[in-house]
Amino acid sequence: MMSKTQICNRCALPATFPGIRFDVSGVCNFCLEFKETAVDPAKKAAYRHKFETLVKEYRGKATYDALMCYSGGKDSTYTLSVLKEKYGLSVLAVTVDNGFISEDAFKNIRTVVKNLAVDHIFLKPRFDVLARIFRHCAGHDIYSRKALERASSICTSCMAIVKYSTLRLALEKDIPMSVYGWSPGQSPVTSSIIKNNPRIVKMMQKSLYNPLYRIAGSDITPYFLEDKHFTGAYRFPYYIHPLAFLGYDEEAVYKNISRFGWKPPGDTDINSTNCLLNSYANMVHKKRLGFHAYAYELSNLIRGGYLARPAALDRLERPENSHIISAVKEKLGI
Ligand SMILES: [Zn+2]
Repeated sequence: MMSKTQICNRCALPATFPGIRFDVSGVCNFCLEFKETAVDPAKKAAYRHKFETLVKEYRGKATYDALMCYSGGKDSTYTLSVLKEKYGLSVLAVTVDNGFISEDAFKNIRTVVKNLAVDHIFLKPRFDVLARIFRHCAGHDIYSRKALERASSICTSCMAIVKYSTLRLALEKDIPMSVYGWSPGQSPVTSSIIKNNPRIVKMMQKSLYNPLYRIAGSDITPYFLEDKHFTGAYRFPYYIHPLAFLGYDEEAVYKNISRFGWKPPGDTDINSTNCLLNSYANMVHKKRLGFHAYAYELSNLIRGGYLARPAALDRLERPENSHIISAVKEKLGI
């Protein structure tokens, strides 16, 4: 009989997760060290108030009040609708096309921006450059252990390009708020509003830029900030992750966004509502590191009371769709 990897009785972290220990009742150290204050309603209310103060300060002052990093997935669609409907912001939605947005996700993107009446642009980096990066990450882990606990090398590379190419756009268009649809499992409430400091941005960018530069050289320059962006001539936007302080309930999110014609895609796997590369990235990560790239995030959602443990385990145990995997490999030339 095959022995099964032990999984924490409270969250979804397996014994293969770095630095994990279990107590006598099978509960992991991450759960034991979890502080209820991380999901404290008073803290959420304080951050919501902080956001509403920023909205009052910036709304209507520039061409766009907010840049929304819009993947077309359920979380960013919901966040986009809140910015537009609840807060009346003028939003520029930006989708970075990594070459693996599913057909159904494309349909959702087009339908939602039309029905919500927001300006939208696609940024499409050269596919040969992206493919070189993704192929390399399929064979090697290029980031710190901490980063790999939270996401695969492929997703971290893709997110770096999304994050800095949209930040660059926000700077060049002078947009005061840059908004993400990260779930509360990806971003705790205490870091849901960040006033960007150019010096720190420069340092953080370096930790992602350097590994990518070693793979693709100066071809990645357009997707990151350059020296001129740090000269003081540009206003750095706030980073905002509203789902951390607005409250988050998957059922309610699905129900809400169906009003704008968003439909659950039939062509992606259960862990992503927009990206096909995600399936391949998860498979590679699990094979190499022994745990699922979403184990950390989903465990955070369980502890925060946002997701039931059986639902999380079901997502983590489901094998990747073999059709998606072969299509991705073919497109990457693997
Ligand atoms: Zn646990």
